Amino acid sequence: MNADSTVVVVGAGQAGSEFAAELRTLGFEGRVLMVGDEAELPYKRPPLSKGFLTGAMTADQLPIRNAAVHEKNRIEFLGGVSVTAIDRAKKTVALSDGQSIAYSKIALTTGGRARPLPLPGAQLANVLSLRSMADAAAIREQLVEGRRLVIIGGGYIGLEIAAVAVKKGLTVTVLESAPRVLARVTAPEISEFYTRVHREEGVDIRLGVQIAALIGDTAVSGVQLVDGSIINADAVIVGIGLIPNTELATAAGLSVDNGIVVDEYGQTSDPDIWSAGDCANRPSAMLGGRVRLESVPNAMEQARYAARALMGQPKAYDELPWFWSDQYELKLQMCGLSNGYDRLVVRGSTANRSFSAFYLKQGRVIAADAVSQLRDFGMMKKLVAARASVAPERLADEAVPLKELVAEVGA
Ligand code: FAD
Ligand code: NAP
Repeated sequence: MNADSTVVVVGAGQAGSEFAAELRTLGFEGRVLMVGDEAELPYKRPPLSKGFLTGAMTADQLPIRNAAVHEKNRIEFLGGVSVTAIDRAKKTVALSDGQSIAYSKIALTTGGRARPLPLPGAQLANVLSLRSMADAAAIREQLVEGRRLVIIGGGYIGLEIAAVAVKKGLTVTVLESAPRVLARVTAPEISEFYTRVHREEGVDIRLGVQIAALIGDTAVSGVQLVDGSIINADAVIVGIGLIPNTELATAAGLSVDNGIVVDEYGQTSDPDIWSAGDCANRPSAMLGGRVRLESVPNAMEQARYAARALMGQPKAYDELPWFWSDQYELKLQMCGLSNGYDRLVVRGSTANRSFSAFYLKQGRVIAADAVSQLRDFGMMKKLVAARASVAPERLADEAVPLKELVAEVGA
């Protein structure tokens, strides 16, 4: 890569920002052009369902890197513009403003979008979803004391918004189609804990609920369930998962399978095109297969590794995945993936608002959840990364410091 090269970063989010910054850190002298269909400089999404929604954080606190850093790093930012096509033969990208830009390399960091509710009435006014700062601002307008809010989906988005809304004095109902909340990411014991906490805080959580339609004239007025009952609502928030933005890659003929397919370095099926973040599907020896993860640590790390590989410093990306979620005063931190676990060991008690849990598979720790156990989480990550084999009764015993277990297994 020489100083005449142009790297086009498609998508100005968490991964795109990291990729561009890492190129400069590694001494890339050519042009870096970041194209983003949102108007704002890349910003942090986690506060959108937390501090930004409560009002504790303002828009000016969200940028990942401010304009001065972009200028210093010579990262050109084209906001409010989409990349509409990639011509791999001519090595150009087409932009929604009519420009055609020649590229040497591309980073596809296109993220994902909120999955739309496939039901009648989903287009009514005051039916909202949350992915962008604009979405969060629209939701914030609805968080007025006394209003009735129905949230569809008991995943991260649904529960984090429920926690904020009930504290603001709204009547909040969460409708989850599965028999428990956070079903995809955690054990039944942890789901039960979060259901109990939300109910204690005043949220009406309904599980195993099938929705027939959203009703209303121009604005939504209620949610009709398949049993015919209606839950009245002034606003409805849909938080039923994410669709990765892969259409551009598919149209360009790249390999796509639940995300843009990349190798362990972040390279797509075209050696001049790289990808990272929510949109990328990568191999993981540690996790035993291909994964497409949706989290900030994954987006940042994967982007950094990809930029390094592009700069001729390839190192396989296979870091331990970890996640967090803030609800009320509780901080949930999770590491590893728990799929296929055969035993859950709880350390402490789920009757309290602070405990941890280890997921074991054939005697080895493959994942762990910490609820407001900030000091232990680092040690938990070590045990999971090492796939440690630890006696369950010692894991469960709060009198045995995790540090001791980590030392014993040499993690
Ligand atoms: P994004 O940050 O989504 O960036 C992709 C960007 O590309 C977007 O701006 C998109 O509009 C743009 N784009 C797409 N296609 C094009 C195109 N053709 N041309 C130009 N631009 C394009 N993760 C955590 O780890 N912890 C949390 O607590 C947490 N909380 C969250 C709360 C909310 C409300 C949301 C929405 C997400 C949260 N996440 C959290 C997830 C985390 O924000 C994502 O995993 C992360 O942002 C992924 O980064 P990314 O760069 O892959 O995608
Ligand atoms: P999610 O975590 O995948 O949860 C979606 C939930 O909605 C799941 O429990 C799902 O159940 C349920 N659901 C699906 N279809 C439904 C339907 N028709 N009716 C009722 N419930 C339905 O996704 P999300 O909460 O919408 O979050 C979207 C994105 O934002 C993700 O990338 C997420 O990682 C990110 N985010 C992350 C955090 C965090 O890390 N703290 C916070 C907010 C947002 P099934 O599993 O049965 O389909």
